[in-house]
Amino acid sequence: MTSPAFKDEYDCIVIGAGPGGSATAAMVAQAGYQTLLIEREKLPRFHVGESLMPEAFWCFERLGILDKMRESDFIRKKSVQFVSHSGRESNPFFFEKHDPRENSTTWQVERAEFDKLLYDNAAEHGADCRDETRVLDVLFDGDQAIGVTLQTSDGNRLSIAGKVVVDATGLSALLANKMNLKQDDPDLRKIAIWSYFENAERETGPHGGATIILHTEKKDSWFWFIPLRNNITSIGVVGDREYMLAGRGKPEEIFAEELRLCSALQGRLGQATATEKYRVAREFSYTTSQQSGPGWVLVGDAFGFIDPIYSSGVYFALKSGLLASDAIVAGLQADDISGEQLGNWIAGYGDGTQWIRKLVAAYYVNPFSFGQFLKMHPQYTGDLTDLLIGRIFHEGAGRIFDDLDPAIKKAIASENE
Ligand SMILES: Cc1cc2nc3c(=O)[nH]c(=O)nc-3n(C[C@H](O)[C@H](O)[C@H](O)COP(=O)(O)OP(=O)(O)OC[C@H]3O[C@@H](n4cnc5c(N)ncnc54)[C@H](O)[C@@H]3O)c2cc1C
Repeated sequence: MTSPAFKDEYDCIVIGAGPGGSATAAMVAQAGYQTLLIEREKLPRFHVGESLMPEAFWCFERLGILDKMRESDFIRKKSVQFVSHSGRESNPFFFEKHDPRENSTTWQVERAEFDKLLYDNAAEHGADCRDETRVLDVLFDGDQAIGVTLQTSDGNRLSIAGKVVVDATGLSALLANKMNLKQDDPDLRKIAIWSYFENAERETGPHGGATIILHTEKKDSWFWFIPLRNNITSIGVVGDREYMLAGRGKPEEIFAEELRLCSALQGRLGQATATEKYRVAREFSYTTSQQSGPGWVLVGDAFGFIDPIYSSGVYFALKSGLLASDAIVAGLQADDISGEQLGNWIAGYGDGTQWIRKLVAAYYVNPFSFGQFLKMHPQYTGDLTDLLIGRIFHEGAGRIFDDLDPAIKKAIASENE
């Protein structure tokens, strides 16, 4: 069946149908604007990043997919847990303890299915959705983005005009690479190696769907443990690029070596077998020096990505997509597609996401221990749970850092003594 022809011009062209792009496209299309959503892969497609943050709930509500999520059989995630380098297991952080409402339960999602759900939702909201179509370039007139050049699956190349171009290409970061906007974070040069395992030992009861984060013996790396459906668990290891790759073997050998340094995980994998090839992700942490300009805006990972540790990526992609969509709709209504208008949400978004960035940095300070910090400052347990939930966009969200920052400094100083 041949696809319908593209329009000559769209109000908004969104590149990339991950959570960020599909969320943006759904909302701009819902407002009545001609919206094109372009994805290079055939959907559904595989993607890493299965564990959601509870605050994604409000994005699902806004996108109109809450009932679909409720009806889905994705594993329910009600808690997270940390296991220290010495094998000490923290009490689970149960989100419901802090907030008893429905939004405290979230999901562990196979991304192929989840991302397809969001893509179909964009189509249901009126977006013209095309997979197997690759954007080759964003077209500019001076500094004004004016459209894209794309290639369809049958090899046809076309230029399509768009008043607003949204880069939601994830770590491919099409525009940031083209415009030289990417800035690596020297403290976060990490790589990840992961696979899927059948028969990993899981908790039963409400903690059974938890994400577990486990440090290895010398804190050189950490593992994620994410329970999925059909008795499959996503397990990955993350560490500094130099440490993980220097003179070491194949990904599965590095994974096995790190696993030997993590007895708490070994205990959970006694009967488990890998069901897929080991995959590697690298160069995933960066920021961008500019996130919007005349006729263009970045969302999701294309805007920047911090680190997988707190499972913030999908939530941030959805949230930034929704915030950008509001700015785009208001801009189209007011005939103002300046960079200031399209990026009018970026400062507030940065204010909130900085707390997760700081929490990531704290995790990588080896002499510092969250367990000991909470023993000394139990009053912050709720604030920490709030951050793990993703509740970061309100006054006082970063209160914990009044005492966390000095505690980290002290831990570093005492190690250097
Ligand atoms: C090792 C690792 C583990 C992670 N674990 C988690 C986790 O547990 N929980 C979590 O929330 N997040 C996690 N993340 C992060 C999460 O995967 C991302 O933050 C999230 O997918 C970002 O969504 P997005 O829509 O911005 O981009 P993506 O989901 O990457 O979507 C971008 C889309 O753009 C398409 N595309 C790219 N270039 C083009 C082009 N030229 N033309 C057309 N289409 C194009 C791609 O095919 C892709 O489908 C993890 C990341 C890593 C690296």
